Amino acid sequence: MTSLPLVFDAPKRGLPPRHLVDLTPAERQEAVEQLGEKPFRAKQLSNHYFGRLTVDPADMTDIPAASRDKLVSDLMPPLFTTVRKVTCDEGTTSKTLLRAHDGTLIESVLMRYPDRATLCISSQAGCGMACPFCATGQGGLQRNLSTAEIVDQVRMGAKAMRDGELPGGPGRLSNIVFMGMGEPLANYKRVIEAVRRITEPAPDGLGISQRTVTVSTVGLVPAIRKLTEEKMQVRLAVSLHTPDDELRNTLVPVNTRWDVAEVLEAARGYADQTGRRVSIEYALIRDINDQPWRADLLGKKLRKHLGQFVHVNLIPLNPTPGSKWDASPKPVEREFVRRVREQGVECTVRDTRGQEIAAACGQLAAEG
Ligand code: SAH
Repeated sequence: MTSLPLVFDAPKRGLPPRHLVDLTPAERQEAVEQLGEKPFRAKQLSNHYFGRLTVDPADMTDIPAASRDKLVSDLMPPLFTTVRKVTCDEGTTSKTLLRAHDGTLIESVLMRYPDRATLCISSQAGCGMACPFCATGQGGLQRNLSTAEIVDQVRMGAKAMRDGELPGGPGRLSNIVFMGMGEPLANYKRVIEAVRRITEPAPDGLGISQRTVTVSTVGLVPAIRKLTEEKMQVRLAVSLHTPDDELRNTLVPVNTRWDVAEVLEAARGYADQTGRRVSIEYALIRDINDQPWRADLLGKKLRKHLGQFVHVNLIPLNPTPGSKWDASPKPVEREFVRRVREQGVECTVRDTRGQEIAAACGQLAAEG
């Protein structure tokens, strides 16, 4: 067996100091008491963070000024500074480059649609999965993000929507996708805690429905099984990219550890537990994985392993700088969709928001 890069054992160095969001409600109370403050201040702080989406002590007028500064500096250390914001699609797509306390750069992308607003968030700085077509994969893994760093991206996105920062007036952040930088299931514990904080009702969480949170993975089978046991209702997306092991070993190198059949079986287990369809992500790459026979094989394998519990999301390849690969021509893409559907499997083409601002797949932080 080939030896794998540190799949489950990413470096801990560089994580930010402990933050309110990293703690359970009981731990928050304890932390507040250790500072010599009344226990109910924990709830007040949580209310400001999760309910009012603020980390600015000036907003916290229900807490006496002296206590406020002490509590905020101890329990809400600054997590990010905003380096840059870029928008496109008439302002309805907004990409934010954030710098963490140790200089690490990450990105998140907010996309507003007529009926929803979706935030694409990062779970790691960099990524250890080394998929050759992905910008993030080229730089390797820098570090895991903390629970608070993951959730804070969502807080900022929710605040931007509430405050009407995108055209269309004030709105609500409705959907979260773990499709920014990183492999979420390789930072399992922190990501699961983050999902809890994102989905619990205020004042313990941001109150976004689990059903509208998508965790996207290269297919770390033991972690998919573990996620199944959490009995949550989050949507699972699996980045398959090809139905055959030979090509997948190169497109998604972790396939040499858990192959297509194992990944699809684990996905089936998740679908059975949740009753929800699994999304299969497929970046369509010209002359690499877009052949008609691959579409047929994809449809057949998905039908066999997942029956009706599957939906294919084709993503036209977003070429990364210096890559020789390109998206498939539209007629090839249409034929691919037709053939997958012919096997009785739902298949749609993902819209390609944010391309001209390199908002897709780790390009922003890669460009610096
Ligand atoms: N590590 C996770 C989530 C991050 S990427 C995963 O692999 O699922 C989210 C999706 O974007 C994945 O399906 C990934 O394969 C895809 N992707 C990465 N780079 C891309 C590119 N250049 N063009 C199109 N899709 C890409």
